[in-house]
Amino acid sequence: MDIRFPLTRTAARDRLAAFIPLAGRAYASRRNHDGGPDGAATTSLLSPAIRRRLISEHEVAAAAVAAHGFGGAEKFVQEICWRTYWVGWLQQRPEIWTRWQADVVRMEAMLADDGKWQRRYEQALAGTTGIDCFDAWVQELMETGWLHNHVRMSFASIWCFTLRLPWQLGAAFFYKHLLDACPASNTLSWRWVVGLQTAGKTYLARADLIRDLSGGRFRVEAPLAREAAPWPADEIPPPIPVPPAMHADARARTGLFVTTEDTSLEQLDLPGLVAVAATPAIGGTPAPLKQRVAMAMLADGLDRAANRFGLEPERVDALGTDAMRDWAARHQLTQIVTADAPVGPVKDRLDALAPALAADGVRLVRLRRAWDDVAWPYARKGFFAFKPAMPKLLALPPGALA
Ligand SMILES: Cc1cc2nc3c(=O)[nH]c(=O)nc-3n(C[C@H](O)[C@H](O)[C@H](O)COP(=O)(O)OP(=O)(O)OC[C@H]3O[C@@H](n4cnc5c(N)ncnc54)[C@H](O)[C@@H]3O)c2cc1C
Repeated sequence: MDIRFPLTRTAARDRLAAFIPLAGRAYASRRNHDGGPDGAATTSLLSPAIRRRLISEHEVAAAAVAAHGFGGAEKFVQEICWRTYWVGWLQQRPEIWTRWQADVVRMEAMLADDGKWQRRYEQALAGTTGIDCFDAWVQELMETGWLHNHVRMSFASIWCFTLRLPWQLGAAFFYKHLLDACPASNTLSWRWVVGLQTAGKTYLARADLIRDLSGGRFRVEAPLAREAAPWPADEIPPPIPVPPAMHADARARTGLFVTTEDTSLEQLDLPGLVAVAATPAIGGTPAPLKQRVAMAMLADGLDRAANRFGLEPERVDALGTDAMRDWAARHQLTQIVTADAPVGPVKDRLDALAPALAADGVRLVRLRRAWDDVAWPYARKGFFAFKPAMPKLLALPPGALA
């Protein structure tokens, strides 16, 4: 099956250019409609590319504002900022991510003891619940690795309130398959649906709305839950401050390390660069399509970096630290530069790598994009308190790691 999403930076820029005419009034009025995998898209379909930073939030938002003015592009820019907000919010409360991971392990083990719950869960994963829209969305997710935003909201609501399955396992199903799977946007959106992010506010899927927004593709005759009582509130830890951004030493003998978190590091200016490598690790147990797409994007990012700096592209398996230490030793590196990874599996790997490299006298420099650096401190409370960050983000100069 053809992949509908850009896998290279060139293709992502082409997609952005093609979408820009629709990023203004058309987006504001039509973005909740979903024509399905074969229908015309009402949104940009850029989320897998943005997730791995084939293209940056700044580039996408700036192009929309240049074409439509801030007023005209406001809705689109706001949606881009939702991603930034979620990432910044989770960055300051990593415990929510570790708690979710532990919940998934615990709940999967519990399934064995509860036959009724297990049957419902298996029907949901197989798309055999008898709810036509839900079953079709399961197939779409598994075949294409993507679902429209409004579909994700309805899917999560039906999973939690109609099928009465735990949100944590629904989030795990999404995380495994989504090409744009993002620890922050995924976990926190599922929490939002069950009322854990905005206290007491839940999302109830409605049959008439699903019929309307799908252009009548679904009949939705099976009864859906009529109410959505908030999940019992859990404790949200107070925000921990984001550590200050790091800076590379221009005189150091440097290796550039590309990960699936940011595949556009050729935009950096690194005078002492002598080696370029990438790690294929993305963490978890991704569905084959998700893995394939991530690897295609990584290969594009590695090639671009190697070409830009005139160096041989190398691959380093960073699952353990030894391969990375060998790579540094082979090139006599004193500094390895990579993109700062927000909360998630790649960050966990970098956290483990930094002290091992430091013991060999190699500094791991995690460069943060200016966009994240400006935005994250605003992501402490709700999205309303985040809004003052938006003009500051749009005012960032274009170019290196904005
Ligand atoms: C339960 C649930 C789980 C989700 N999981 C993810 C996820 O793992 N990764 C992910 O990137 N998005 C996630 N989203 C948000 C949203 O559904 C997708 O970003 C969106 O569907 C992507 O389509 P698009 O690129 O055409 O978006 P567009 O509408 O064209 O928006 C442009 C960009 O803005 C960002 N964006 C848009 N809407 C949202 C939103 N509501 N929240 C956060 N960012 C947004 C995306 O980066 C997107 O590419 C989730 C939403 C829900 C309700």
